[in-house]
Amino acid sequence: MSALQDSLPHARTRYGKQVTESIQQTRVRYVVLCVAAIATPFIYPPTWPLVLLALASYAIRMFGVEGIYHRYFSHRAFRCSRPVQFILAVIASQCGQHGPLWWASVHRHHHQNVERPDDPISPRQHGLFHSHVGWVWCERYKDTDLDRVPDFARYPEILWVNKHYTLLMLAGAALIWGLAETGAFGSSVTGGAALMWGFFLPTALGVQTVSLVNSVGHFRFLPGGYRRFDTDDDSVNRPLLALFTFGGGWHNNHHRYGASARAGFAWYEIDITYYILRLLAALGIIHDLRDRLPDDVIEEGRLGGMLGARRIGR
Ligand SMILES: [Zn+2]
Ligand SMILES: [Zn+2]
Repeated sequence: MSALQDSLPHARTRYGKQVTESIQQTRVRYVVLCVAAIATPFIYPPTWPLVLLALASYAIRMFGVEGIYHRYFSHRAFRCSRPVQFILAVIASQCGQHGPLWWASVHRHHHQNVERPDDPISPRQHGLFHSHVGWVWCERYKDTDLDRVPDFARYPEILWVNKHYTLLMLAGAALIWGLAETGAFGSSVTGGAALMWGFFLPTALGVQTVSLVNSVGHFRFLPGGYRRFDTDDDSVNRPLLALFTFGGGWHNNHHRYGASARAGFAWYEIDITYYILRLLAALGIIHDLRDRLPDDVIEEGRLGGMLGARRIGR
């Protein structure tokens, strides 16, 4: 049994599926995000305030998907209070990749069926294009399988976020527009420019970089990465991808020990999400950070003396 399965409570209640949107809505959102992102620098040429706005917005979205959707809702790598859990879910809903329960349910399905025919994002089984984007467009995966996330499906407020994440994302876009109109980003940044550089561009970039973890992060034949662990799957550690995905690119480490709050195991494997989680733990916002690697993982990965950051949690 995997570490992921070990960490899940036994489900006694059947929750069924939650319908959040039609597959047409998914496809339209995907295309609109891509087209708008490509058009952004042509409509509003880059300026320093716009670039900084884009970077800040990208950082929030990327931590949302990697730190909150992935390490918290999918793998329960730390604990937090119910109000904090709700706030984290709302922040992460800005990432443009469905709601927290949809993301976690599909991701747990991936871990439990990795590289088998039922794994939706396996390049070995379905090819690179399907693992990058094709599966998102499939009718089969559009609804949220709540029985894969019984530990969170019991919270009505999280079910609400999962169903209405598009509304929350649009509210976030309206907030960016409104802040720009009040001069919050400087007098040179209009509401329209802020919307393009602070919403469409970083959201679309985040969708693509996370999709790369699914595709090239599971494609060992492409150079630019290494496998620290000889896992049964094709997962690869990719340093450049790990930088852009705030640690998500340490995918071979993650498939060896996915329950960990840290995905960069060696000190030189930069893991921005882990650093942010440590800060949140130090501030008392989250607790029980699960960042102690088991001895067999340390030995197998030849990590003795290379762990770097002092481990603080479970
Ligand atoms: Zn994977
Ligand atoms: Zn995972």
